[in-house]
Amino acid sequence: MSERGLLIVFSGPSGVGKGTVRSKIFEDKTNKFEYSVSMTTRKQRPGEVDGKDYYFRTREEFEEMIRQGQMLEYAEYVGNYYGTPLTYVNQTLDQGRDVFLEIEVQGALQVKEKVPDGVFVFLTPPDLVELRDRLVGRGTESVDVIDSRIAKAKEEIRLMSEYDYAVVNDEVALAAERVKRIIEAEHYRVDRV
Ligand code: 5GP
Repeated sequence: MSERGLLIVFSGPSGVGKGTVRSKIFEDKTNKFEYSVSMTTRKQRPGEVDGKDYYFRTREEFEEMIRQGQMLEYAEYVGNYYGTPLTYVNQTLDQGRDVFLEIEVQGALQVKEKVPDGVFVFLTPPDLVELRDRLVGRGTESVDVIDSRIAKAKEEIRLMSEYDYAVVNDEVALAAERVKRIIEAEHYRVDRV
């Protein structure tokens, strides 16, 4: 077994339900991976706890973290910063424990540059897969019939090829189970043992 933990990057297009699937995954207390709490400048929502759901910070504080090189990755999403503090991730991986990030796509691509041996899991909406099957399978779709939604979906499909795994979010419990199995299986890869 490799001594350092695995970095699991769980990502996907906005609105696909990453947060819901992540919550389901972490309901299982037998999991051996740790959730990395992100930092954000967006407003705290009712019920959210600072330090548990996010570290809620000002833009100034966030930008200071960036300047000091303390973010593994960060992105601006709908006018707010979101990012992964580096220290927690490094310390946890060094202790041989796996770390789970739930982040949007731009951030995931940054992590891929820095940590190419991470496990990159892309959550897809079911209709995206249907679209992919239709476009790739037939390959004859006329451009005229492809509206802007499909253009966006194609962009997302292109990004999916940067990942190691695609998990369909057809049902939350099923999607969560698939992700857990992927993480489990990654520990048995010959190149990691
Ligand atoms: P929300 O504001 O709904 O909690 O999150 C908005 C988006 O930010 C979601 O797609 C979520 O996955 C993403 N996100 C949460 N934490 C991070 C992070 O640390 N880095 C990046 N790049 N995205 C994040």
